[in-house]
Amino acid sequence: MKIAVLSRNPNLYSTRRLVEAGRERGHEVRVIDTLRAYMNIASHKPSIHYKGEVLEGFDAIIPRIGASITFYGAAVLRQFEMMGVFPLNESVAITRSRDKLRSLQLLARKGVGLPVTGFAHSPDDIPDLINMVGGAPLVIKLLEGTQGIGVVMCETSQAAESVLEAFMGLKANIMVQEYIKEAGGADIRCLVVGDKVIAAMKRQAKPGEFRSNLHRGGSASLIKITPEERMTAVRAARVMGLNVAGVDILRSNHGPVVMEVNSSPGLEGIESTTGKNVAGLIIEYIEKNARPNQTRTKGKG
Ligand code: ADP
Repeated sequence: MKIAVLSRNPNLYSTRRLVEAGRERGHEVRVIDTLRAYMNIASHKPSIHYKGEVLEGFDAIIPRIGASITFYGAAVLRQFEMMGVFPLNESVAITRSRDKLRSLQLLARKGVGLPVTGFAHSPDDIPDLINMVGGAPLVIKLLEGTQGIGVVMCETSQAAESVLEAFMGLKANIMVQEYIKEAGGADIRCLVVGDKVIAAMKRQAKPGEFRSNLHRGGSASLIKITPEERMTAVRAARVMGLNVAGVDILRSNHGPVVMEVNSSPGLEGIESTTGKNVAGLIIEYIEKNARPNQTRTKGKG
């Protein structure tokens, strides 16, 4: 097969591994710099151009689109979809997953376990919003944040009120969430491929920190997940319409709750922690499922 990896940097671990795994399995794999792909929208025959060349003949595309270039990256991917190329994750699903609030609403609709979460616009509604999620301590999140930046814990309602007022004053989009204390600063990253969790790791926040992101100094270890957690992760990915996803789960007193579904999960932490060939399993998924013109939305969404 001829596979394209849409990525800004061929030297990133995940990009490198996907290229390597694809070539190991006998495929032609090429990295396309997302921001250097440009497209002819007006023509009847949709095309993608790249550094002066017309890109043709790809069977599948693996999008690795960073949060900061979601808009442009989704447009490039959509163009590939219009050309009938099989996307590992569809552009619509990626765009969906990039909006934390929209994602939680979709998951809630399908009954997936979530932390109690509130969203409001007016500062007048702050006191009630805080009550709604069960009062302090609580977590405030910027909808556009990644890697734990923009996630704040407030120990008292007073602190929460001031932080909410400040964020609202800055016109930031924020949501308020119950603090899952019993998770003990740990979360579980489940790597879903198709309808299976193929690898899982526990991430533990460093002492004095509640955010377990590896970028925030968290440490990863192997974990055995329960059938309920497995089912929750697979359902969350399915609801989002993602074939491959990193589903972040907290162990709460009321069962597993999903915090986030990531459409471009990093492979380094999960491969080194579990020793699994995640990149190889992703390529295998493509081999089994890639068909031309099979995109659910064909770039329509
Ligand atoms: P990001 O997308 O920036 O990583 P998350 O929503 O995943 O933001 O939050 C970052 C980390 O903060 C999580 O990995 C988790 O450890 C912790 N965290 C987030 N929300 C909660 C919560 N409601 N209760 C307890 N811990 C939380």
